Amino acid sequence: MNEMSRTLQIISIQHELAMSIGLDLDLDKMLQLFLDRAKKRLSLRSALVFKQAPREDKDSNLLCYPYAPRPDEGSDWLVEQIFQFSKLDTANQCLQKDDCYFYLFKVPKFGAISFERKLHPIDDIVLHALLPLFGRLAVSCQACLEHQNLVDEIKNRKAIEEQLRRQTYQDVLTGLPNRKMLNINLQSLLSNVQQQGQYGAVFFIDLDRFKLINDTLGHSVGDELLINITSKLRNCIRRDDTLARVGGDEFILLLNNIGTDELSAVAKATKVAEKMLGITRESVELSNCSVYTSFSIGIALFPSPELSVNKTISEQAKCLIKNADVAMYKIKHTSRNGYMFFRHELQVMSAFRSEVEQRLHVALREQSFELYFQPMVNLNGKIIAAEALLRWHDEKLGWVGPQDFIPVAEESGLIVDIGMWVLRHTCELIAQNLNWFEQGKLRYISVNISPRQFSQPHFVAELLTLIGEFNIPHTYLRLEITEGVAMENITSAINIMKALSSQDLHFMLDDFGSGYSSLSYLHQLPLKSVKIDRSFVSQIHNKTDNQVIVEAIIYISKHFSLECVIEGLETAEERAYFNDKSIVAIQGFYFFKPQSEQAFTKLLNGVG
Ligand code: C2E
Ligand code: MG
Ligand code: MG
Repeated sequence: MNEMSRTLQIISIQHELAMSIGLDLDLDKMLQLFLDRAKKRLSLRSALVFKQAPREDKDSNLLCYPYAPRPDEGSDWLVEQIFQFSKLDTANQCLQKDDCYFYLFKVPKFGAISFERKLHPIDDIVLHALLPLFGRLAVSCQACLEHQNLVDEIKNRKAIEEQLRRQTYQDVLTGLPNRKMLNINLQSLLSNVQQQGQYGAVFFIDLDRFKLINDTLGHSVGDELLINITSKLRNCIRRDDTLARVGGDEFILLLNNIGTDELSAVAKATKVAEKMLGITRESVELSNCSVYTSFSIGIALFPSPELSVNKTISEQAKCLIKNADVAMYKIKHTSRNGYMFFRHELQVMSAFRSEVEQRLHVALREQSFELYFQPMVNLNGKIIAAEALLRWHDEKLGWVGPQDFIPVAEESGLIVDIGMWVLRHTCELIAQNLNWFEQGKLRYISVNISPRQFSQPHFVAELLTLIGEFNIPHTYLRLEITEGVAMENITSAINIMKALSSQDLHFMLDDFGSGYSSLSYLHQLPLKSVKIDRSFVSQIHNKTDNQVIVEAIIYISKHFSLECVIEGLETAEERAYFNDKSIVAIQGFYFFKPQSEQAFTKLLNGVG
């Protein structure tokens, strides 16, 4: 090779290697490219990079460690050489081992590079021409590292932002959007709704009796159920619909673009609601058990004329959710496991409910409730007991029936104080008229205990204290609870009932057959009597189905030594039907309507 072509060759090697430096911002790729080209152009057997150990790595006695590519086995010698070399003050070094030549170069502030060549050394002039390249390589390595740091930092920041976003806008358990996110989505939907000319819907979905599952089967089962239900609900909707979890067992669904007119919007929303209710037809399989659930769904459509009157977008969103909630509430308190569209009448009802709640506060303060007493008679028509029933006349609202105000009192928690008032008043009446009981005119007066009252933490103690105050025999008072109360949390119900029964306070299961109608737990509850619901009694002489059910209940009650009471008996025909049945007491308008306290007292005292 002549001088000229050699010079050209050196320039070309130098040029090619120099070009590979900084060609990529990825450090590994950049080094790999440099090594590959060096290997090829300098006919090397191997080309390796060694990196300086980080300063904080105090345990490592290596100043350099193999970086890329990993040296072959048996290269401990080379690693040792690099280690020694890194401590020297020279920028490069040539070593010979067997028939190989090793060239070590420092890459300042980064590490070192080794070239290995078999049989022939690298030409001195070529070697000399290579030296400046390592300074440039060092600069490029630093640039790559800085770039990498920057990329990592951005990635970290993004991850933190994403985590923050999730914490702020997502429900941790189900991964669904939370109420905040839902509000943002709903408001953005509402602000576009006018231009799009499309209807949308807000579904308020509440899982029925979730608390019962949580209390009886435990919170982990409750959580599992929620996750399971979430994925089932998701299958009922499109990708761009928003399903959010906004409370323990409450979900809100936003449906967008469901039609250009109200009729088709109703049809679409109905379809989705029915699909969701379809979920409840099969049991939900969880890891250790399977449970049945049901939903109550309230639906509010938008746009609607009343929504847009003088309301900001945020007020409209609030109003829509409230309307869907009102409709949900209505379905929950009628049939459960169903859906209902919001109508204006529901709003009127909801307004009435709030008014009732406000007035109940006043009534409680001013003690404007009254107690009526409805006698119960035996098969001979003789009075043997009575049920205390609340009556309320409000200055503004007039007479409000218990059917209307008891649920409001229950919901608002006012029932606890109202219930205590009823108990106190009944005890007082008993204490003033002990002779009724002593003369065999009355066995007991029963009082309705609401679910909320029953599940108060100090119910047993407070009740016993109250009765103690009046010093009356405990059997003179009987407590009526409904199936729902007992089933809410059966273990705790049994405990409470046992504690009171052991003190001679007896229980009657009210409205039996109207709710869960589960006979299987009947013997578990320490009951004294069962009151068969009015719906089975009414027209019983004409209804063979009801006859079968009532006779079965009477039979079972007898078996468990429970007293059977009939309620809502209104006619002579119904009366005749029960003539030969094992009934301990009958309550109904046929014999007596609920009586004012004064009328009841007169009745028992035989006056008038
Ligand atoms: P309930 O405990 O099942 O009470 C029996 C209801 O049936 C009473 O209605 C009574 O007037 C009515 N009734 C009795 N015989 C007949 C009949 O022959 N025909 C018809 N149509 N009805 C009859 P009321 O007084 O309106 O009470 C309704 C419900 O309100 C009660 O049902 C009870 O659940 C609740 N309630 C009433 N007073 C109280 C109370 O002091 N505390 C609680 N927690 N709930 C109460
Ligand atoms: Mg009752
Ligand atoms: Mg009843």
